[in-house]
Amino acid sequence: MSSNRMENEMETQFLDVDRIKADFPIFSRATKGKPLIYLDTAATSQKPLVVLKSLEEFYSSYNSNIHRGVYQIAEKATAEFEAVREKVRGFISAPSSEEVVFTKNATEALNLVAQSWGRSFVAKEDKIVITLLEHHSNIVPWQQLAEEKQARLEFVALDAEGNLDMEDYREKVVGAKVVSFTHVSNVLGTLNPVKEMTKMAKKEGALVVIDGAQAVPHMPVDVSDIGCDFYAFSAHKMLGPTGVGVLYGRHKRLEEMPPFLTGGDMISEVHISGAKWNELPWKFEAGTSNIADVIAFGAAIDYLSSIGMSAVRRHEIRLTALALDVLGREEGVTLYGPKSPERRGGVVPFNLKDVHPHDVAAVLDGMGIAVRSGYHCAQPLHDWFGIPSSVRASFYIYNKESEIYALAEGVRKAGKAFGN
Ligand code: PMP
Repeated sequence: MSSNRMENEMETQFLDVDRIKADFPIFSRATKGKPLIYLDTAATSQKPLVVLKSLEEFYSSYNSNIHRGVYQIAEKATAEFEAVREKVRGFISAPSSEEVVFTKNATEALNLVAQSWGRSFVAKEDKIVITLLEHHSNIVPWQQLAEEKQARLEFVALDAEGNLDMEDYREKVVGAKVVSFTHVSNVLGTLNPVKEMTKMAKKEGALVVIDGAQAVPHMPVDVSDIGCDFYAFSAHKMLGPTGVGVLYGRHKRLEEMPPFLTGGDMISEVHISGAKWNELPWKFEAGTSNIADVIAFGAAIDYLSSIGMSAVRRHEIRLTALALDVLGREEGVTLYGPKSPERRGGVVPFNLKDVHPHDVAAVLDGMGIAVRSGYHCAQPLHDWFGIPSSVRASFYIYNKESEIYALAEGVRKAGKAFGN
């Protein structure tokens, strides 16, 4: 993307969505004879051609294993792989690339912390605090740890809009050993005040773990400024391939905990008598890494950086504001989540009167519109709102206003089809 185009966008705060769409091969294909309107980025994003090309280039011109071969293509593969680590470091403003660990996904990154740090340092009666906004990936690992250690797991409550109840948070973090929360809710879009929350938990001496799976793809994130101990996210939600996650961890924390998985690559020496661990970050990257996908993730970061994360955020705020407005006017629609688009990510969940979310999604599918229906891996949150499921539309750089109007039209059609 040219710098002129970028400046234009910064000024007008509009992204040139048609030009962006042209970079994504999937949008030139029709589904059911209609152009694809993809409103499910919160599940996974689409991939631009530069990412697909990077995969092809790796496999067709320098496929080899990393950190071992001394021949040319192996050295190139190692250099490209490690360059992405540095790129990720810059993208999230981590102090050093030793603190950037590649995992399989955000889920594995969160499990790594719970299993490795948690099993070493959490003891009987310790308090682990999470919130009702969490994705199952940031609930189940803590439930498992609490059960194993006989620790206490407590959930911070929400207000009626779906914001965290900060009074409850303030009370619950007192004396906590671990505090973990999502940066942005994958269901309600709630944007948490993570810096303030980290500061409050740190005052208590707690370990702070943040699930950034719905934040890093959509807004500028600076982990140094936030001040957390760990921060996890997935490449596939930010234009990258599946199979790559990132765990940022403070050097001191990563040093004090044992490896998560063991085997090749994560050791410096192995003898009959025992083994010594490799340096950071490789101590946490056992076995052959997902080389091609990590390298292609680098192309995704370059693509996002060329647009600028502030521009991505502004674009999503506009789309979210419009979606809240037009869906809110539809007969029988109940919207969930914070009212202000500034206080949420580009995620809009709703229900249509007595129509089952799967039926709404099926009508939309007939129009080429892809949305998610179900409980979006966040059952405790749905329980809290007293609803079994919802429809969720989520937005990204390749969505535009006309698609939001099409969504509203589809919802109207579903209402008519199911007798609303
Ligand atoms: N946390 C949040 C907030 C998410 O939205 C997701 C994915 N839906 C995850 C964690 C898990 O991500 P992954 O499936 O890539 O591990």
